[in-house]
Amino acid sequence: MPEIDLDEIVHRLRAAERVLITSHIAPDGDAVGAVLALSHVLEALHQPTVVCALEGCVPERYAWLPGADKIRKPEECAPPFDLAVIVDVAQLDRVGETAKLITEETSVIVLDHHLEKKPDGDLVAVDPAYAAAGELIVDLMDAAGVPLTRDIALCAYVALTTDTGSFKYSNTTVRSHQIAARLVATGLPVTEIARRVFDEMSQGRFRLLVRFVNSVTLLDGGRIAVGTLSAADLAECEAREEDTEGLINLAHNIRGVEVTMLFREVDDTTVKLSLRSREGLNSAEILSTLGGGGHTAAAGATLEMPLQQAMSVALRRVRESLAGQP
Ligand code: 5GP
Ligand code: MN
Repeated sequence: MPEIDLDEIVHRLRAAERVLITSHIAPDGDAVGAVLALSHVLEALHQPTVVCALEGCVPERYAWLPGADKIRKPEECAPPFDLAVIVDVAQLDRVGETAKLITEETSVIVLDHHLEKKPDGDLVAVDPAYAAAGELIVDLMDAAGVPLTRDIALCAYVALTTDTGSFKYSNTTVRSHQIAARLVATGLPVTEIARRVFDEMSQGRFRLLVRFVNSVTLLDGGRIAVGTLSAADLAECEAREEDTEGLINLAHNIRGVEVTMLFREVDDTTVKLSLRSREGLNSAEILSTLGGGGHTAAAGATLEMPLQQAMSVALRRVRESLAGQP
């Protein structure tokens, strides 16, 4: 495990006057949960000014988390900040418009768990052994001597359960369970949380789910599953970008499937690709040549090309990887 100097990070956090906390575009449960958990830790440290900003809306299924109502859009925030902490992402170009709030006088701390070869930032804590960025925030909380509160626990628990798929994915460790036990012991209503985060859905998401399922085709003798969602699909279903989160897993559960790809058309020249792979195939590595990244079992990329071209380019890349398999 790489050495992470949490004490130095705590020192910098304590010394800062105006702190910006942010995460990646299209924020997921770990992004929102880790940003908010960290903001509660900083509150406990009596930081004078802490601003949480995310590009786009906080997905509805996370909007009830304590502090979510205080998350701002970048255009609503007033720089300068002397410190920016970017969580669950290590590259400023994935932070979107919020990166513009980072000026020359801002030092940048990265708290992340992606397989990232070249993280941005002045002080970097990136460790893929963490199942979620939220797990790293709990370690940071301990290093800062901040007692665990219910608000911190709630945010960190959502971060942990979303990024581990409720402790099912291969990134789940003994430590994930140990941390979860501490969080739940603060009195978290786990059934209620699971309903809000994983089960309940908007009508738009339900319609989109049906479209996604109908779009799935199996290739190469059932080793590859491919699903597509066009811009028209989202519009006609009255679904939002956040409604696509996790749909890919439905296809990845088909017996025999080793790689699942979801191509989501953003517009005529942009496609968001999601990739999931079984043991022995590294998703992040597969997408690294296409400008993407992520984790071993789950990765993504943004392809600046029309849908058909994106599908042929990415499929070729996946087939190369499968061919290199024993
Ligand atoms: P998802 O497929 O659920 O959008 O993302 C899966 C994983 O890949 C996440 O950990 C996410 O951070 C990463 N990821 C998604 N999209 C991109 C992208 O466009 N670029 C990079 N570098 N990583 C991505
Ligand atoms: Mn994460």
